Amino acid sequence: MDEPEVVIVGAGPAGLVLAWLLQRAGVPYVLLERQSRAEIGTLPKAGIVEYRTAELLRAEGLPLVFDTENRRVEFRTPTTRHLFDYADLTGDRPHYVFPQHRIVAELAQALVDEGAPLHFEQTVTHVDPDAPSITAGGTTYRPRALVGADGAGSVVARALGDRVTVLDRPLAARWLVVSAVTAPLVGHTIYAIHPRGYAAHLRRGPRETRFYLEVPDDVRARDLTHDEVRTDLADRLGEPGALDGVQISVDDLDLRTRVTTPMQAGGVFLLGDAAHLITPAGGKGMNLAVADAVELAHGLVDAHRGDDARLTAYSDTRLPVIMATQGFSDWFLRVLSAFSTDALAGTGAAGFVHGMREGWVRRLRDDPLLARWFAHAYAGVDAGANAGVDADA
Ligand SMILES: Cc1cc2nc3c(=O)[nH]c(=O)nc-3n(C[C@H](O)[C@H](O)[C@H](O)COP(=O)(O)OP(=O)(O)OC[C@H]3O[C@@H](n4cnc5c(N)ncnc54)[C@H](O)[C@@H]3O)c2cc1C
Repeated sequence: MDEPEVVIVGAGPAGLVLAWLLQRAGVPYVLLERQSRAEIGTLPKAGIVEYRTAELLRAEGLPLVFDTENRRVEFRTPTTRHLFDYADLTGDRPHYVFPQHRIVAELAQALVDEGAPLHFEQTVTHVDPDAPSITAGGTTYRPRALVGADGAGSVVARALGDRVTVLDRPLAARWLVVSAVTAPLVGHTIYAIHPRGYAAHLRRGPRETRFYLEVPDDVRARDLTHDEVRTDLADRLGEPGALDGVQISVDDLDLRTRVTTPMQAGGVFLLGDAAHLITPAGGKGMNLAVADAVELAHGLVDAHRGDDARLTAYSDTRLPVIMATQGFSDWFLRVLSAFSTDALAGTGAAGFVHGMREGWVRRLRDDPLLARWFAHAYAGVDAGANAGVDADA
């Protein structure tokens, strides 16, 4: 067997976008994925694609059609409602509703149809970062570049040991991820800033809707009945009774942030959740993973053609963007969350935190400069993309 030049571990959005681009450029690679073809992408994860991600994927020629826009988000508190048309403030640049499992399914299918070297049910069990070499299913590969796109528990990242530094910050908060078999309650995102905790309503499709319900970190999904979840969600969202009888499944999501620096060592490269974790506040994780994949693909293609400069600079190019995005998500988590960020010790601390959350919502409503900044950062529109749009538009 000829050695592939690149081995990619993981068929999530990061690994598949990278595979697609290497396939197009004729770089010899293989992709190893531990799950079966039918299993990949079945967990409920991302559902919203940033404007810049959709543009990037279109420009790179990926076969995905982004046609369902999400233009508005409504902030609800027990006393106010503010419908925020962020696409209007960005010069008509919205999000797109496109669940992660569809990205994974459609890209995997397109690659399999071309006979691409995607190997399913191949769990990577051993990585030697110095060779570099990698073993899966009894086969050892010795590629020139070894790519860890294997998600939060990355075996490739772990193998790097003290060649890299892991900046890890777990948060004392838990969201329940509620997947409901029902049409959206309204045609936009709702973020409920409630004293009992954050709740969200996110569109996923004509008959599926995602909800989040923030709970204290000593509460788990198994501690609550589905009726309790439905009732609390609907009440926090200001839609009492709206979820009665709706079929739901409920999973725990422990919030965590992490960045590995640098994202490369020798011939080993990390991308997506294998390199960094971000909370779902603001919906950035999959978008970062895709942008990593595009940058790394360009570096690998250039290196294949004899120019290593872009590949060498991969981590330095991506880390500033990743840290800035972590900063946005951290701020937004403080707006949304009752428990996530500050210890709720002291008389009145919970009321203080809730007062600040309501204060941010009022400023988003009343301060055009804050509203404009938020719209761009949230939708994922690069600075300067709409230099001609008036701040008060
Ligand atoms: C509830 C939830 C909601 C989210 N919402 C959003 C959102 O709205 N917007 C957003 O942008 N992001 C969101 N995210 C984050 C987003 O889902 C992740 O950032 C994204 O999945 C990262 O993609 P990835 O390809 O890096 O990793 P993954 O999607 O985790 O893929 C990794 C792949 O590697 C495989 N693998 C792992 N170990 C091995 C091994 N040893 N051998 C072989 N294969 C292996 C796995 O099976 C998997 O297929 C959300 C996440 C969660 C959990």
